[in-house]
Amino acid sequence: MSRTLQTRLRDEPDAPIRRILQIVAEMPEPPTSCRCMNPECDQQCQFPKRGSTGYRPQMFCSRSCRLAFDRSRQRLEDELSILDDIANTHALTRRQRVDLQREIGVRRWALARYPQEWRQP
Ligand SMILES: [Zn+2]
Repeated sequence: MSRTLQTRLRDEPDAPIRRILQIVAEMPEPPTSCRCMNPECDQQCQFPKRGSTGYRPQMFCSRSCRLAFDRSRQRLEDELSILDDIANTHALTRRQRVDLQREIGVRRWALARYPQEWRQP
């Protein structure tokens, strides 16, 4: 099992930047190929290879996937807002409340797959 960057740097607290970069280069590299951010897409996105310049890492496999992600996220947020409003303003039977909470829950669960804050590296 390889040691973490944190423990390696703790062992050498006075390491100069040249040594720090050497330690980082010796660490296992995080994945440079991951699924498209659109949870409904199976395509892979790549982080640019070492030494390449001029293009940003892909977060989505395509512009249409980016747009689909934004549309789905917005739709889920809008539906959640409406259903939360109904839950808070209507007199509901126990059964209706259970059914409504399930609808709210499934949208919250799905929305967690559409993070709002993702940064373009
Ligand atoms: Zn995609």
